[in-house]
Amino acid sequence: MMDTLPPCPNCASTYTYEVDALLTCPECGHEWSADMSGSDEEVIRDAVGNILADGDTVTVIKDLKVKGSSSVVKVGTKVRGIRLVGGDHDIDCKVPGIGQMGLKSQFVKKVND
Ligand SMILES: [Zn+2]
Repeated sequence: MMDTLPPCPNCASTYTYEVDALLTCPECGHEWSADMSGSDEEVIRDAVGNILADGDTVTVIKDLKVKGSSSVVKVGTKVRGIRLVGGDHDIDCKVPGIGQMGLKSQFVKKVND
């Protein structure tokens, strides 16, 4: 963890504070990712805008056909231990009863368990 937060890149205010994975500037309202290590890596969000992270648990919010098979990932399916990989299907995970597959982040919702 950082002891001191970086100043706002927008207005250079030092009164920045952390909200989840984002830094927020109270002076100009600018929000940005605290993780500057990976250049401007995109934050992956679920269907309702929660920021997803490796190891999160999500539920599927609509029936999803599994490419190349007749299986369907049913709405409400709980998937534990997701891994963010980027790309079109930006979540790599093991779906119960189906196996390893890629999901799109816009079709899942983060759950706290
Ligand atoms: Zn600012």
